[in-house]
Amino acid sequence: MSLPKPSERAFVPFVSVANMMALIHAVGLERTLVELADAIETDFKRWELFDKTPRVAAHSPDGVIELMPTSDGEQYAFKYVNGHPKNTREGLQTVQAFGLLADVDTGYPVLLSEMTVLTALRTAATSAMVAKHLAPKDARVMAMIGNGAQSEFQCMAFKAVCGVDTVRLYDIDAGATAKAVRNLEESGLNVVACASPEEAVEGAQIITTCTADKQYATILTDNMVGAGVHVNAIGGDCPGKTELHRDILLRSDIFVEYPPQTRIEGEIQALPEDHPVTELWQVIRGEAAGRVDARQITLFDSVGFATEDFSALRYVRDALERHGMYDRLDMLADPDDPRDLFGMVQRARPAD
Ligand code: NAD
Repeated sequence: MSLPKPSERAFVPFVSVANMMALIHAVGLERTLVELADAIETDFKRWELFDKTPRVAAHSPDGVIELMPTSDGEQYAFKYVNGHPKNTREGLQTVQAFGLLADVDTGYPVLLSEMTVLTALRTAATSAMVAKHLAPKDARVMAMIGNGAQSEFQCMAFKAVCGVDTVRLYDIDAGATAKAVRNLEESGLNVVACASPEEAVEGAQIITTCTADKQYATILTDNMVGAGVHVNAIGGDCPGKTELHRDILLRSDIFVEYPPQTRIEGEIQALPEDHPVTELWQVIRGEAAGRVDARQITLFDSVGFATEDFSALRYVRDALERHGMYDRLDMLADPDDPRDLFGMVQRARPAD
């Protein structure tokens, strides 16, 4: 089922969770992650073309709801996403998301998609793409601290994109670690369940933190991060929600997506406004240094930026051309005479 041309469009393709999962299996998980990482990297190279703004956040005592818009002038995208760490206690996801892609020319939506699974994929693909630029080239062992919804996606992206072959898992909830061990059984990774964060970081050249707690947490203390390590800090992504001890930040070279957003939401909210950080797009374009020596600690202070969701939605839309796997959503009003919206409603009146 190929997609309709714009002139024939009276519906919006909608990718449900079921179809997103079918798409991943049709393409293959690792291939999806590699292709997504490429798509995200390609858009980082076109950085100046994008409208950029810190996401719009509505905070509440237990979480946050955010809107993340961007456009490259030809297409426009936004994601609706929440972050509610208490949700898992009630059997709900911490993060749920959906997103929309539209043509700038007409303003018409061209894709509506679930983005809970897609966010896990794009966050993992972004982490691994960034690590390709910043982590030691021979890094094969990753500590994965926080074994919730995002964690296996992170592990698989680091395998597929960076060649990581061993993951050392830790979570305060041993049940979460056991779940991740089970899920990664046939992944081809060596999977080691650890009883403490200190054990998890032993021998790891990459440390990923991906925990959820609405507080200034200390998942990593200074003594846990040795020379030469790349830290991929995913979980601290809101004001008042961080994962790393401040001393680690002071010893690291810090790389960020979009400074005006990361200063508010990232690990660097603990640092003065003028603390130097490097923008990733500059490293990706070869205009700023990434890792320059073997003893340097590199830190990706990840918060998730709108261009990554834009890239992911465009990737999914292209994949629909090859694989179908969408529903037709009746969300475009389409009267024969574009000015006769009222007449269209009248003609839809049920017969008496
Ligand atoms: P989740 O609730 O499914 O998993 C979080 C896990 O962290 C849980 O298993 C929990 O037991 C564990 N945890 C909490 N405190 C811990 C501690 N002190 N030590 C070890 N483990 C601990 O959440 P998720 O969907 O996996 O998301 C994780 C975090 O990543 C959230 O904070 C979310 O907001 C963030 N996130 C960031 C991005 C990004 O782009 N940077 C994208 C998606 C999610």
